[in-house]
Amino acid sequence: MSIFKVYPLFDVTPVSAKDVYVYDDKGIEYLDLYGGHAVISIGHSHPTYVAAITEQIQTLGFYSNAIQNPLQAKLANKLEALSACKGYHLFMCSSGAEANENALKLASFHNQKHRILAFKNSFHGRTSAAVAATDNTKIVAPLNAQQGVDFVELGNLNAVEDILKQNETCAVIVECIQGVGGLDQSTTEFCQGLEKLCKQYNTVLIADEVQSGFGRTGDFFAFEKHNFKPDIISIAKGMGNGFPVGGILIHPSIQASYGLLGTTFGGNHLACAATLSVLDVLEKENLMQNAKEMSNYFVGKAEKIPKLKAVKGRGLMLGLEFDFPVATLRKNLLYHQHIFTGSSKNPNLIRILPPLTIQKKHIDLLFEALKLEL
Ligand code: PLP
Repeated sequence: MSIFKVYPLFDVTPVSAKDVYVYDDKGIEYLDLYGGHAVISIGHSHPTYVAAITEQIQTLGFYSNAIQNPLQAKLANKLEALSACKGYHLFMCSSGAEANENALKLASFHNQKHRILAFKNSFHGRTSAAVAATDNTKIVAPLNAQQGVDFVELGNLNAVEDILKQNETCAVIVECIQGVGGLDQSTTEFCQGLEKLCKQYNTVLIADEVQSGFGRTGDFFAFEKHNFKPDIISIAKGMGNGFPVGGILIHPSIQASYGLLGTTFGGNHLACAATLSVLDVLEKENLMQNAKEMSNYFVGKAEKIPKLKAVKGRGLMLGLEFDFPVATLRKNLLYHQHIFTGSSKNPNLIRILPPLTIQKKHIDLLFEALKLEL
């Protein structure tokens, strides 16, 4: 059987990795400034993480959600302590798409409305509804016959209100920093405006923190900077440092009932152990502070390079926007300089999503490499 080809692949075969480095089958060392789409938060194969997963699999790797799992409660408490989500509830699943799917479903159960409002250029995973948000010319398979997605320009509160006042929208879903879309950010005024409109029109406000959460921006969640309270927050990626785990944090105003949501794998013992160890390392190694410091260092260096139009993003969710398409530059960084970077919907932008353990010397390597390739 062959692989169903849905991705264009670079010709590199990683076989091992350590912290910010990846090694291929030919023994070549690569600097990983992409972390597999922002997944590697505490560095590849961190010893605390490896030990936690190893110990868990040797005792109890998995049992179903119909029994007590004290690790989930421990994780919920830890998330509450580290984030601005006091009093929220945790529901666990296994990926970002599943987190958003659950968030949208829950919103619809909560207020009995059926449409979704998303922002142009957003990306919420390959969900039946949210996939449409990646490209408003292609609305693919809405959740059901009545359900659909409305798209609005990021920042346009009047357009949001025009839609919400029709009283059909169950949820507004927003990335405070657009990842795949190209690092455009919402302003505080916009976020607070969304919160106000959602309250006024009985609509659930979902912050998609799948990519921006878990310390990547230097705050635990990107929305915290804007001083508002989403009703649901979706999480995944950096949460498991490679272990497939996701979840939603749910404001106490949204009531749970048996059977409302469900999953086979979500929140299993191994997933909890992986996530708990990620949080442990984030705290012990002060990685959110490191994200802020390394971000400042990066931006300072970036401002000196030629042909750069803008440095976008926040913390270690960054983009270098040039005045030309970057596909060849990215290939040269990979094959000549052995540096992994990412792309986005903006063809002129290189995405930088390194492990939060990155140091100045690694950032220096990127800028030396750019000097050679530009
Ligand atoms: N939401 C955002 C903001 C994302 O960036 C992504 C993936 O890139 C997703 C959701 C989907 O996550 P997953 O690929 O784990 O389904």
